[in-house]
This record gives sequence, structure tokens and C-alpha cells, in this order.
Amino acid sequence: MFALKDVTRRFGNKLAVDAVTLEISQGQMVGIIGRSGAGKSTLLRMINRLQEPSSGSIHFAGVEVSGLRGRALRNWQRDCAMIFQQFNLVPRLDVLTNVMLGRLNHRSTLLSLLSVFTREERIHAIAALERLGIEQTALQPAGTLSGGQQQRVAIARALMQNPKMVLADEPIASLDPLNAKIVMDALRDINEREGITVITNLHTLDTARNYCERIIGMAGGRVVFDGKPSELTAEA
Ligand code: ADP
Ligand code: ADP
Repeated sequence: MFALKDVTRRFGNKLAVDAVTLEISQGQMVGIIGRSGAGKSTLLRMINRLQEPSSGSIHFAGVEVSGLRGRALRNWQRDCAMIFQQFNLVPRLDVLTNVMLGRLNHRSTLLSLLSVFTREERIHAIAALERLGIEQTALQPAGTLSGGQQQRVAIARALMQNPKMVLADEPIASLDPLNAKIVMDALRDINEREGITVITNLHTLDTARNYCERIIGMAGGRVVFDGKPSELTAEA
């Protein structure tokens, strides 16, 4: 079980996330929807510890996530891979290297970051690219790919982490409808085939309805809806 209890984040006197309590079980595909400024991104970033809660607790399998330090924190950040709206690839590096960067959290010292990737890592990275249908781009600089391809590279990079959860912050907000579908299908595929929990912020309700078994609606930092898409009709 993954659980948030009264998780709150303030910026000055602004409550970005206001006492959010949630439980998410393994293998769920969850869509978080809400207007810009509702607190969706801050919520995801606190799960991954890119941002710290002002108060409240986050538990995963009985461990308090905010207490993690050092190697334990790196392991946690590896367990919950992030996907971003702007892909966050290294544009001048080739696609294969970008995917292998997903292994960095598996290494313990700065020195080991400088070493070349192993044969196993390369094989694993190529398999991840094949799975996403973009293996033919492996040697191109990531910055030369289309947005939809870049987001698939980011998903391949996330898979290299062997994550338990994927946290996707507006993964399709910069994409045209066709690429948005390809990326959402890829997220659904890793959820269904590998049982990886997917929590994704989305700005369109239709996408959440089509892909997510559970929808969490946020407004003003609070959870205002939490249920199945079929229960949403009145609110929409
Ligand atoms: P969403 O992802 O739903 O658009 P955010 O989590 O980005 O919402 O933002 C929630 C609120 O917190 C907004 O009012 C935003 O302006 C504020 N906020 C987010 N990040 C910061 C920050 N680093 N500094 C100050 N205010 C912030
Ligand atoms: P329970 O769900 O019975 O409380 P635990 O919390 O002990 O079980 O979790 C058992 C294992 O399942 C954990 O070590 C963790 O790897 C995995 N797990 C639990 N919750 C999630 C989740 N929401 N997403 C992904 N994996 C999870």
C-alpha cells in the first residue's frame, strides 16, 4: 500500500496542497485532474521527493518516505520514476544514452557515473526502445526527435529504473492528439503488462476517463473527487 496522510505544502502563505489523504494500491492507473494551479504537480513532486511536504506523511510499504536519506532516498527515487511534460531528456546526447541515464540512480558514487555503461545496460536499453517502437532512433541526438518520440524515450528511460510506480506530470500536454494517444497507450501498456502503478496528471477529463480506472479531482490544493470514471458524470 502507498498512502498519503494530511500531506500539505505551503509556498509562503499559499497552500499549494492542502491536507491530502489518499491510499493507492499496487497496479492502479490513476489520473489526477484539475485546473492549472490546483496542486497536481506539487503533489506528484512530493511523492518523488523533488519537493518536501510542509507537513503530513507519505508511507510506502510501511516506510515513511520523508525520513529517507542517502542511498535509501535514491532507491525510492528509482522506485518512482518521473515523466515530465517537457520530456527532460539531454537533447545533445543520443537516444540510447538518454535511456541508459535511467540507470544512474542505481549507481552509488560520482565516480561510477563517469564509467561507461555495461553491455547488459545497452541490451536492456535497446529492448526498452524496441518495446516503445522507437529503436530506429537509438543513435540520433534526442533533441532531433518529435515530441511524441521524445516522450517515448522518457518512458524507456523510466523503465530502465525498474520502477514500482511511474509518476507522470502532464505527459501529453505538449503533444498532438495522435502522439498523445501513443504515449497514453504506452503508459497503459506498462501498467497492464508489468503491474507498475501509474499516477498521471492530466489536463483533459476525456483522457482520464479513457485510460484511468480511478480519477482524483483536485481544486485549490484539495481532493474534491476520488472515484471511478463512471461515477464522475454529475461533477463533470
Ligand atoms: P498544478 O500542477 O495543478 O497546475 P501546481 O502544483 O503547479 O498546480 O501549483 C499549485 C499552486 O502552488 C499554484 O498556486 C502555484 O502557483 C503554487 N506553486 C507551485 N510551485 C511553486 C513554487 N515553487 N513557488 C511558489 N509557488 C508555487
Ligand atoms: P500491503 O499492500 O499489503 O500493505 P505492503 O505495503 O507491505 O503491502 O507492500 C508490499 C510490496 O508491494 C511493497 O514492498 C511494494 O514493493 C509493493 N507496493 C505496495 N504498494 C504499491 C503501490 N501503490 N505501487 C507499487 N508497488 C506497491
